[in-house]
Order: sequence, then C-alpha cells, then structure tokens
Amino acid sequence: KESWAMMFQRQHMDPDGPSSNSNYCNQMMRRQLMTERQCKPVNTFIHEPLVDVQAICLQGNIICKNGKPNCHKSSSSMKITDCRVKSSSEYPFCDYETSHKERHIIVVCGGNPYVPVHFHASV
Ligand code: UDP
Ligand code: UDP
Repeated sequence: KESWAMMFQRQHMDPDGPSSNSNYCNQMMRRQLMTERQCKPVNTFIHEPLVDVQAICLQGNIICKNGKPNCHKSSSSMKITDCRVKSSSEYPFCDYETSHKERHIIVVCGGNPYVPVHFHASV
C-alpha cells in the first residue's frame, strides 16, 4: 500500500523538472495518476532535491490552518509549478494551466522518520 510519504512524492516531487513544455501540467498530472477518478483541481510540483524538501520538516514550525502544530515552512524559496484545472476542462480530458513560480512552501510532516506527507500551500 502507498504510504502518505510515498503519495507526497508521487503527487508533489519533480526534482529534475520542469521540462520546458507548456503542456507540463497536462502530462504530469496524468503521468502521476491525478486524473484517474477526477481531474485533481489544484496540485503543486516541487523542483528541488528530495533531501532539501525533506529538510523542511526540521525548519520553521508553524500552526496549520486546521490548528494542528505540524506544519513547516521552507526557510528558502523553492522552484515550483502550480497546476490548476481550467474551467473549460471536462473529465476525462483534464486540461490544466501551468504556472512556474518561486515561493516558500508549507508542508505537513508526519511519521517516523518525520517527513512531508501533505502539501499545504505556497507563500
Ligand atoms: N494543493 C497543492 N498546492 C496548493 C494548494 C493545494 O498541491 O498550493 C493540493 C494539495 O495536495 C492539497 C489539495 O490540493 O491536499 C487540497 O488543497 P486544499 O487547500 O483545498 O485542501 P486542504 O489542504 O485545506 O485539505
Ligand atoms: N494531513 C495533516 N494535516 C493537514 C492536512 C493533511 O496531517 O492539515 C495529513 C492527512 O491526514 C493525511 C496526509 O496529511 O494523512 C496526506 O494528506 P492529503 O491526502 O491531503 O495529501 P496531499 O494531497 O496533500 O499530498
């Protein structure tokens, strides 16, 4: 069974990307299995080494929106790509807008080892 940590990596890690391609999100959202049952509305891919993303769990501890204490904000800004489904998109033909950005990211960490399990936001 896929663990939360594995699921985070599948949905949010693309250390070698992004490929220079305006269809990045359309390809990646499908390849990483986020268009199977519905078009996942919003998803962020992180283009930094996995160790650097895992290290966020040792950085800036903050309160999550849901009041839990296990959110962490990256101390540096990171290269990310936000994928947002277009209003004209119709499942099963998921059509995404691709936006490349540099932002601090907030992740939820959990488990032992204490690693990212959920992508919360970019700021
Ligand atoms: N999400 C993302 N990037 C963002 C915001 C959301 O990848 O900047 C994804 C993330 O996987 C999250 C899902 O969208 O689990 C739902 O986000 P939302 O904020 O709607 O829900 P919440 O995190 O409050 O459960
Ligand atoms: N989670 C959490 N705090 C939050 C949001 C999520 O501890 O504020 C946990 C959630 O219970 C689950 C894991 O993070 O165990 C993965 O969440 P989700 O399915 O939303 O994954 P994402 O889409 O963010 O990768």
